[in-house]
Amino acid sequence: MALKYVQEYRDGELARQLIAAIGDIEGKKMRLMEVCGTHTMSIFRHGIPSVLPDSITLLTGPGCPVCVTAQRDIDIFVALSMVPEVILTSFGDLMRVPGTLSSLQQEKARGRDIRVVYSAFDAVKLAAENPHRQVVFCAVGFETTTPTVAASIMVAQQQGLTNFSIHCAHKLTPPALAALMETPGVEIDGFLLPGHVSVITGTGAYLPVFDQYKIPAVIAGFEPVDILKAVLMLVRQNVSGVPALENAYPRAVCDKGNPKALAVMDQVFKKADTVWRGIGMIPASGLVLREGFNRFNALEKFDIQAGDAPEPAGCACGDILMGLKKPDQCKLYKKRCTPMNPVGPCMVSSEGACAAFYRYG
Ligand code: SF4
Repeated sequence: MALKYVQEYRDGELARQLIAAIGDIEGKKMRLMEVCGTHTMSIFRHGIPSVLPDSITLLTGPGCPVCVTAQRDIDIFVALSMVPEVILTSFGDLMRVPGTLSSLQQEKARGRDIRVVYSAFDAVKLAAENPHRQVVFCAVGFETTTPTVAASIMVAQQQGLTNFSIHCAHKLTPPALAALMETPGVEIDGFLLPGHVSVITGTGAYLPVFDQYKIPAVIAGFEPVDILKAVLMLVRQNVSGVPALENAYPRAVCDKGNPKALAVMDQVFKKADTVWRGIGMIPASGLVLREGFNRFNALEKFDIQAGDAPEPAGCACGDILMGLKKPDQCKLYKKRCTPMNPVGPCMVSSEGACAAFYRYG
């Protein structure tokens, strides 16, 4: 099936053929997990769970960058916003995530200088325009976002800016897949791998996880036909008993990914253990600045002390991110927790499972 235009990836007849093909080989119960916030939204928006056989359960994994950001990092962002000379810059999704005592939105209402930006480069530009202020960027996201943050740091260095820094809460996708496979109680029969992340990492980045766990895995695009095609491939692998690492998004993803983006990332960051919301510490699943770039580390620059922070009481984001619960199995869902009054990040982020479930489920 070689498609060319976006409309073809939304074609109803093609989608019906794929649904029929999935239905023809249904029977075996299987739990398939996507690990990408854009997949979460697309799956709910297009009603994909409702057209699949009952035997197939689609799970939402740790793929929403805001949702996986640990409570400690949210508290650090809030603490940085309170430093008088700081202009804190952040993606919009982070603003309403409740920290232990406050959120960025609440601090902005109290008069802190917090600005929503669309890229780390906007923050660098702000630093150049405000030489007497300190501009800090809240760096969250996966391999998709990290290269641009790395590039922005290199630009700041080239410009000799001494008033730009970041707090790095970046995460890497493959170690999270391995962590899920090692978590007792987590049952996954296949991964729908993230398209955006894979554009940067390439198919090869998943090989170590695939070789170790031999779990069906398919990289998918974001249109309904993309997703149904990937689900069909996962179902076929499960039924045949022959797991494979396949690429159903070849129009954007190749084996080696984007070498330039990977090189920039590697130049600025190195791997480190990091804590994921709900999942806990995953070895070598995060990034920290390399020694040569330490002056861009906001934590050191402003001497912010941050200990572990408990997640909001009653919030089941962690279980949802591991496929152990659906949003409506959280006791707070639609009661104390709504998009207007979120308790956890999964209800805040536009890519969060609870927000998607609330809107489309
Ligand atoms: S409904 Fe709210 S409290 Fe419950 S898991 Fe989702 S974000 Fe957390």
